[in-house]
Amino acid sequence: MTEITAPKSPVTADQFADEIREQLKYTQNVTAERATAADVYVAASKAVRNHLADAWFKTQADTVNGSTKAVGYLSAEFLMGKQLENALLNAGLTEQFDKAVESLGFAPKDIIDAEYEPGLGNGGLGRLAACFIDSLASLGVPAFGYGIQYKYGIFKQTFDENGKQVETPDYWLNNEEPWGHIDYNRDQKVSFGGEVVEENGKKVWKPAWSVRAVPVDYLVPGYASGRVNTLRLWTAKSYDEFDLLAFNRSEYMDAVKPQVKAENISKILYPEDSTKVGKELRLEQQYFFVSASLHDAIRVFYPGQDKPDLTTFPDKITFQLNDTHPVIGIPELMRILIDEYGYDWDTAWTVTQKTFNYTCHTLLPEALEVWPASLIGELLPRHLEIIKKINEQFEDELKGKGIDDKTIEDMRIYTGDAVRMAYLATYGGSHVNGVAELHSQLLKDVTLKNFSDAYPSKFTNVTNGVTPRRFVKLANPGLSDLITEGLGTDKWISDLELLKGLVPLTKDDEFVKKFAAVKAANKHAFVGFAKDHYGIDVDENTLFNTMVKRLHEYKRQSLKILLVISQYAALKNGSLNAEEILPRTVFFGAKAAPGYYLAKMTIELINNVSKVINNDPDVKGKLAVYMLPNYNIEMAQNLIPATELDEQISQAGKEASGTGNMKFALNGALTVGTLDGANVEIRERVGAENFFLFGMTVDEVEKLYADGYDPAKYYEADPRLKQAIDLVANGTFSNGDRNAYAPLVADWLTKDWFMALADFSAYADIQAEIEKLYRDPLEWNRKALLNVANSGYFSSDRSIEDYLERIWHTGPLA
Ligand code: PLP
Repeated sequence: MTEITAPKSPVTADQFADEIREQLKYTQNVTAERATAADVYVAASKAVRNHLADAWFKTQADTVNGSTKAVGYLSAEFLMGKQLENALLNAGLTEQFDKAVESLGFAPKDIIDAEYEPGLGNGGLGRLAACFIDSLASLGVPAFGYGIQYKYGIFKQTFDENGKQVETPDYWLNNEEPWGHIDYNRDQKVSFGGEVVEENGKKVWKPAWSVRAVPVDYLVPGYASGRVNTLRLWTAKSYDEFDLLAFNRSEYMDAVKPQVKAENISKILYPEDSTKVGKELRLEQQYFFVSASLHDAIRVFYPGQDKPDLTTFPDKITFQLNDTHPVIGIPELMRILIDEYGYDWDTAWTVTQKTFNYTCHTLLPEALEVWPASLIGELLPRHLEIIKKINEQFEDELKGKGIDDKTIEDMRIYTGDAVRMAYLATYGGSHVNGVAELHSQLLKDVTLKNFSDAYPSKFTNVTNGVTPRRFVKLANPGLSDLITEGLGTDKWISDLELLKGLVPLTKDDEFVKKFAAVKAANKHAFVGFAKDHYGIDVDENTLFNTMVKRLHEYKRQSLKILLVISQYAALKNGSLNAEEILPRTVFFGAKAAPGYYLAKMTIELINNVSKVINNDPDVKGKLAVYMLPNYNIEMAQNLIPATELDEQISQAGKEASGTGNMKFALNGALTVGTLDGANVEIRERVGAENFFLFGMTVDEVEKLYADGYDPAKYYEADPRLKQAIDLVANGTFSNGDRNAYAPLVADWLTKDWFMALADFSAYADIQAEIEKLYRDPLEWNRKALLNVANSGYFSSDRSIEDYLERIWHTGPLA
């Protein structure tokens, strides 16, 4: 007898159908007969939202009145994915919805698909924030996600006829968006510019201009917790809709300038990931959402109080800084406490330091934000003063610890002409965490070594995680049913460590075969998805081998495409005989930052390699390569469950954690990867014999840099690599044009900063092992199932429990 604990609303399918009809009639103003799938999507979404309202109000009331400290998750990105299916699951309305929309004459899938995916994030960092707020709500912890409701999310990616990436704006609000509720009555004023003057011995900031921050509230329903938290995304509005004087002079364009300037702040998500941005508008965005959020938290927790006792603020809410983007919150809270509420510096500092914690997401020095002091001074003059004073206090403190002048200089928050946001965050908060064991160790040993030496107790680790609701239960219903069958309960959805109970079943050949059948069905389903979405014909009788993530040199898509080229060459020149050939389909998905030259050229190369290979009759049925456009959550939810071999091949010491790696392991893909980020922990948990490890370790990488790295040596030494690079250089993938990829080839042979060439031989060698195992489907699937069984640790519920224990020191509402 299988135990089912998934939430189920008492509402019947007929009642839910009536609710949808009601929404169609009164809010969509369309009859059920005339309604389109898009109408029904909006109506059903509003109907589900209504079901969540009471739990939302109660959670809000308990959050404010309760004795449990809340969590404020400050993040410039929330990559939420489609909402309806997840809301139905958590509201316990999935079955009723299916029947209700069928009774209205629609297929449930068409209604779910009618939602336009909001892309308010770049990749891992934004998706992590979305997983975390799901887990906070599911664990019953009172929490607010705070961010920006960008009008344009991450760009839509297409490819032109030459295979080059083309970016088009993602105007996701083009159609009615039923989830966000704009609340004009709970707005905040955010000011910029101007100057600081002294009045009666006090510093007074006289800003030059202000914008109106208006919250748009999204419900965050927990799974089986009865709790609904809030994601509050700020949108920028102008106070001066237009300049009447200019309008009267018939200068219409000038008249709307103030509005344009204000609304620009929340107009666009910067499409950058792990690269430097440093633009004024970006700083405006950061200050905009952080200032509004801090004021909002004071409004929420001290309602109607003119003189609240803000020394209790850190007992009400703890703020997590998701990377350096919200770090301007530290001087902002100091300013609020001192200038707006009259606290002295020391009291303000104690409150501020207790309030914030910082998550570092990188090891790449260029991704740690550093702002020119002149820019901060222009935009936020009072904050620059406060930062300078924080830095003075910091230097004094370090001197008091006996730290030498040279080290103090290296650690300065304010250098005289720049402000180092990671250092400000580390000093200005209580805790600093990395996002995987290896990453946290490297932060202590390298990136923030001086800080770790001076403040060892601040440093901790919280390994990332992913929500099992979206990325197993919803994305992989076949596997979910099989897990529930195997365990005799569906409790694993909220307690993922229960997957361990599948370990004994990996010895049961019949169960392993059922698992293999689920994977085969997922592959089949993806073939249909790929046909519908990309117009391609994928051969499902091949190994599905996937590399999806942002395009970045450190992630080393180059290494993968060079391997594919060498496999192609081997097939062409007959050095592999027919029995040796393991048919493979390689899927890439990756967006490159629009200004990232080598990344964009790599995309172009992959597309053109794909064209040559997929059109070559000699390798038909043996090797196919696809660069799928516009990698997003929808693609992830469809492709990950269908993947058999996942690529996590970054240079050791460069990927902070990765979360894609966790999603693949949980969905029963085997990983070929390096000892980097959370790969290390995945391998430890699933077992070294169930993970294809290759490549240099962090120490070996460091040694090679120190000894002087010469990529050309590796090119000369491995004929497979030499041949692959030669084929790129000789125009095979550019209609004979030898110049097409010259910059990429030159980079490989002379720089290759992330040492793809040095790891190539090991990577190529391990393919034989992969192919040998794949030829034994039972053993392959046994290992894949072991990956599922041992990956429960990578639930974001576990990550949140670690944050609660190590950093936030709070817990669920009673
Ligand atoms: N982009 C999207 C759309 C994702 O779903 C994920 C998955 O976690 C990522 C990026 C991050 O991928 P990775 O951890 O491989 O960098």
